[in-house]
Amino acid sequence: MNKIEHLGIAVKDLEAANKLYSVLLNTKPYKQEAVESEGVITSFFKMGESKIELLAATNPDSPIAKFIEKRGEGIHHIAFDVTDIDAEISRLQAEGFELINKTSKPGADNKLIAFLHPKSTGGVLVELCMERK
Ligand code: ZN
Repeated sequence: MNKIEHLGIAVKDLEAANKLYSVLLNTKPYKQEAVESEGVITSFFKMGESKIELLAATNPDSPIAKFIEKRGEGIHHIAFDVTDIDAEISRLQAEGFELINKTSKPGADNKLIAFLHPKSTGGVLVELCMERK
């Protein structure tokens, strides 16, 4: 694991959250991107090496809609940058972690991603991400 790539924050209203975070971080989002397969629309802010990813649901069955229903808005996941996502998936599976995605899949921001189940990571949804070449 190289670094924390970003923190994912679940929000109800992306436009309102964009405004709030623009003021809070004193920078505008550099990218807004829908991930249709996940039923989410995302917005990214960059501060030096770190990013904040805002996530809003695009339909009521989206995992983000379900998360907000259960736990309210707030921190949704932590994403770690990795050099070789397939090797990390294999390593973590061998260590007994439960992977939600047993193979990497395309995510937002030109990444390949895979999620670990929070029940094997002390309640934290962990995302592995690797820049797509
Ligand atoms: Zn993420």
